Amino acid sequence: MALQRFPLMTPIDGEGKIFRGFLPIHNDEYFIQVHLPENNKNTQLYGDSKLKHILENINEQQLINRLDQLDDITLFLSELQTIIEEYVSINKSSSLNNNNNKMNSSTIQRYKTIMSELKEIGFDKVVHINDTLDHIIFEISDNEIRHPLKIYISSTYPLTPLKLELDGPTLSTPLTTTITSSSTETTRTTHSNLYSAIQYYNEWIKIYRDYFICMNELDQNTRILDPDQPMGKDTFRRIALKGHCSLHLELDSIYPRNGLKAMRFYGSEKNIKSFQQLWENKSQQWDNRQSPYQNLYIIFKDQLMPKVFDNQKEDTSSDVECAICYAYKLEHIELGLLTPDIICTNDQCNRGFHPTCISEWLRSNPTTTRSFNMLFGKCPYCSEVNLL
Ligand SMILES: [Zn+2]
Ligand SMILES: [Zn+2]
Repeated sequence: MALQRFPLMTPIDGEGKIFRGFLPIHNDEYFIQVHLPENNKNTQLYGDSKLKHILENINEQQLINRLDQLDDITLFLSELQTIIEEYVSINKSSSLNNNNNKMNSSTIQRYKTIMSELKEIGFDKVVHINDTLDHIIFEISDNEIRHPLKIYISSTYPLTPLKLELDGPTLSTPLTTTITSSSTETTRTTHSNLYSAIQYYNEWIKIYRDYFICMNELDQNTRILDPDQPMGKDTFRRIALKGHCSLHLELDSIYPRNGLKAMRFYGSEKNIKSFQQLWENKSQQWDNRQSPYQNLYIIFKDQLMPKVFDNQKEDTSSDVECAICYAYKLEHIELGLLTPDIICTNDQCNRGFHPTCISEWLRSNPTTTRSFNMLFGKCPYCSEVNLL
C-alpha cells in the first residue's frame, strides 16, 4: 500500500491519514512522519534531526498552512520534497553535511526491510506499530476468530531474528517439536523475516484450532464471570448459572471436546446440590462430537446464564454480583481476590455477598449476635437470619 511515487512511504493507520517512511532529497533520505489534516486538526510533521533543522530554518508555520490545503499525500510530499530540495541546494555548505545529523544507514536498512515485508503481508493485518518499530501487533483471523500476534523486532534486525509472543494454551512447552512432527519445516529459529513468522503462527493456530473454537463458543453464548477478558492462554472459565451459582471449568487444549478437564460448582449449598444432581444424571451422555457448550446446554438448559452485552449490563447486574458492593470481583489486601460466594439461605432471596462485605454489614447491625466465632445476623434484603 506504499505510494507509487514515494515507495518508502507507507500508511501506518487504517484510514490512510498517517504516513511514515523516507523522503528522497537529492541523494539522501529523510525520515518523516506526516499526519494529514483531519477533523479540524492541522497537518503535523515529524522528522529526524536533519529535517527538523531545515523546518526551523524555513518558515515552518507558513509551510504547514500551505500543506494544510493539500489532502492528497502524493501532492503533499511532492511539494515538501521541492521545498526541501530548494533549501538544501542553497545551503549546501551548511551544517547539513554534519555527520552527526546523518541517520545511521543500518537503521534505514532495517526500516526498509520491515516496510517491504509488511507490504508483502498486507497492512490490513497490522493493528499496531510503535514509533521505533520494535514491535508490531498483527491480527490473524482463523475461523472467524481473531488472534492477536505480537512480534518483537530487535534494533539489529534482520541480523538478529524476530521473537513471537504467542497467546495460547501451552506457552511453556516448546511448540517446535509439535510442529516438526506434523511434517512442516517451521521451527522457532527460522523467523528470519516477518513473513515466515506469520506462516509459523498460522501453523500454530491450527494445532489449537478446535480449542479456540470451543472457547469462543462458550464466550459468545454464556455469561463469563472469570476471566474478565479471556485470553487464548486462559484454559478455564467461570460460567454463571441461575440461582447465584456458577460453574468453574477447564478444557483440554488438544482434546477440548472430550469432557471437562476440571469442574467445580460455586453457590449456596442447596442450589449447588441441584446442579450436581443434574450433572450426575446427565454427564454420562457427554457427546465428544459436540462442543462443550452444546453438551453443557443439554445438561443445564436455561440454567446457563446467557452472555450479557454491554448495553444490557444494568438489567442483569444483580444476578451474580455482590448485593452490597455490586461488584463481582473484590481485591482484598489479605484475602486476595474475593467472589460473592456467601449466599443468603432464604431461597426467595438467594443473594450473594463477598465474605468481607457481609461481615462488615453484620458487625455494624445492632441485632447481630456473636456466638463462639460465628456471627448471626439478618440479610440486608430479606431479614432472614444468616450466620457467618
Ligand atoms: Zn461486595
Ligand atoms: Zn436474603
